[in-house]
Amino acid sequence: MTCRHRAIIDTIPSYKQGKTAPVAPGLTSYKISSNENPYPPLPSVQKAIADNALGSINRYPDMRGWAVVERLAQEYGVKPENVILGCGSTEVITQLVSFVSGPGDEVVYPWRSFEAYPIIVAGAGATSVQVANRSDGGHDIDGVIAALNDRTRLVIVNNPNNPTSASLRDDEARRLMRAVPDDVTVLFDEAYFQFNDDPDASVAMRLFDEYPNIVVAHTFSKAYGLAGLRIGYAIAQPEVIEGMIKVALPFGVTHAAQTAALASLDAKDELMGRVGAIKAERERVVAALTEQGWNLGKPYANFFWLPLGERTDGAADRFASQGLSVRAFGGDGIRVSIGEPEANDRVIEVCAELMHDGF
Ligand code: PMP
Repeated sequence: MTCRHRAIIDTIPSYKQGKTAPVAPGLTSYKISSNENPYPPLPSVQKAIADNALGSINRYPDMRGWAVVERLAQEYGVKPENVILGCGSTEVITQLVSFVSGPGDEVVYPWRSFEAYPIIVAGAGATSVQVANRSDGGHDIDGVIAALNDRTRLVIVNNPNNPTSASLRDDEARRLMRAVPDDVTVLFDEAYFQFNDDPDASVAMRLFDEYPNIVVAHTFSKAYGLAGLRIGYAIAQPEVIEGMIKVALPFGVTHAAQTAALASLDAKDELMGRVGAIKAERERVVAALTEQGWNLGKPYANFFWLPLGERTDGAADRFASQGLSVRAFGGDGIRVSIGEPEANDRVIEVCAELMHDGF
């Protein structure tokens, strides 16, 4: 049987989950392919789920997740009407894309970036306009501005950018906002912002009052380490939130996820301490690789980018043979997440071998 369907779907590459680590004889394996937080959930978060969420699994969750929404509104100095939760920030991005764009509309974003963008845009029936990153992996904001036209409905900027780990500067974000028409939405996807220690980095919420067309997406998956529970959120004008609610998956955010998010916000200082440790590990790895002769751009997220071009697949095999699953983008480069210190030690060793072997 051939199922009649939308031809555009055939053009979408399937989203590929970061591989679990290959088993290397005699070695512990590490998954450093999905930019996950290497720390296990805090005991306080596990306890909150056991005490408050496990016993009510037979009931649907609060669809708007008001307790979390109110807490986030307080944290960002906005109204609860400005906040929406999603099943991961992937869902809030999907809601926004299908709220603002459809067939005939264009969504502009720097590329390479988050692999889900082209999938989500094509899923909405809209057209992706991808603007190549600068050679250093940074966002080409002039290129993005040049790509705007009457069909543009949305611009997506991922800061820091997955997979290049580049940071967008505040002045670049402001230049972009000045150039984008008022009725075109700009989504700042800041999934990794807690890892960004560039003092000149753009912080989209600083522009929020000035530009009503800004939407900010954040997640509990990375700095807060709740990737497996699936909870993220967006901050936008109330009319945008209302539109996003209409296209949202009903009950998409479980009670367990909402409970864990609240408990994690309670434990923010402890969790940000872990972020500090991950950043320190990142600096340690980058210093070691630089010493080996690698010419890396400075990474601003919890991962770094090896622009290996045609040598990508060969290098990925070398990581795999040492029990390390990294994320290879064939013909382009490898994204390596900062993991446990032992995983990072092994990354340093493999990189030394690659450098020695002329990769
Ligand atoms: N944005 C970016 C740039 C990401 O890399 C990811 C996760 N890989 C997400 C959003 C979505 O994360 P989640 O759905 O887990 O919140």
